[in-house]
Amino acid sequence: MTKEAAGASRVLNAMSVDVEDYFQVSAFDRIVSRASWHTLESRVVANTHRLLDLFDRHDVRATFFVLGWVAERFPVLVRDIAGGGHEIASHGYHHQLLYTLTPLQFREDVRSAKDLLESVSGRAVLGYRAPSYSVVKSTLWALDILVEEGYGYDASIFPIHHDRYGIPDAPRHVHRRETSAGAIVEVPPSTMRLGGVNLPIAGGGYFRLLPYAWTRWGIEQANQVHHQPVVFYIHPWEIDPDQPRFDVGTVTRLRHYTGLASTMSRLDRVMTEFNFDSIATLLKLPGREKATDGAAA
Ligand SMILES: [Zn+2]
Repeated sequence: MTKEAAGASRVLNAMSVDVEDYFQVSAFDRIVSRASWHTLESRVVANTHRLLDLFDRHDVRATFFVLGWVAERFPVLVRDIAGGGHEIASHGYHHQLLYTLTPLQFREDVRSAKDLLESVSGRAVLGYRAPSYSVVKSTLWALDILVEEGYGYDASIFPIHHDRYGIPDAPRHVHRRETSAGAIVEVPPSTMRLGGVNLPIAGGGYFRLLPYAWTRWGIEQANQVHHQPVVFYIHPWEIDPDQPRFDVGTVTRLRHYTGLASTMSRLDRVMTEFNFDSIATLLKLPGREKATDGAAA
């Protein structure tokens, strides 16, 4: 199906990448200690470059939520992403689930990540996405801190039921949230409401585990019927079937390792059929123009 046939030319969707390595996912927290991260083979640079090449072929700018830990070790990668005209955003520094942190620890994590990403990229960092979408009802205090630390939007509240994250009754589309420190824009990953429940339609494990037709139908419904953009998300390790494997339980094995070999061709397809740009462009944030000027100069 062409972009025109899908009605995509009328709706701009957001493409986002959580830049972390295959051993940093929250599901591996219990078997891969943070102290061992630096000893493991890193594949995040090569995998992120494969995504950058794909986005270039489709002339798409995306938002990259880069983990501070990754940016510290691979600053050239951050500069390469920014140099391609993409938006640099923050995935925090140490990839710790918010409900395992105190507010003080969280503040330190998002502040150090923002400082580092801004100094490495030379760009203002306005967006934040929590590790494993861990802004949940008990950690909504995080939004106040994000505003105080100079973030303009959060992309962490998944309006679904899940064992590790989600606020099932949260609004499904981009919206403003008031905090004690001022307003913040919330950019939820996209869902479709069916039979009274919200189902994810645009990215991550759902993109790999379910037939491609589900994603295409979901985006078509959002774009054509509801005239809403979708917010798509992917991780560099999701396009890497050759990553070293960990001995994990059945559920984690299914979620992490299913469909890795076909993610690239699916991404290619979804970007052929629909229009994407960065979250900054979707929200019309001023930093976007500056980034484009810089890339064109
Ligand atoms: Zn993550």
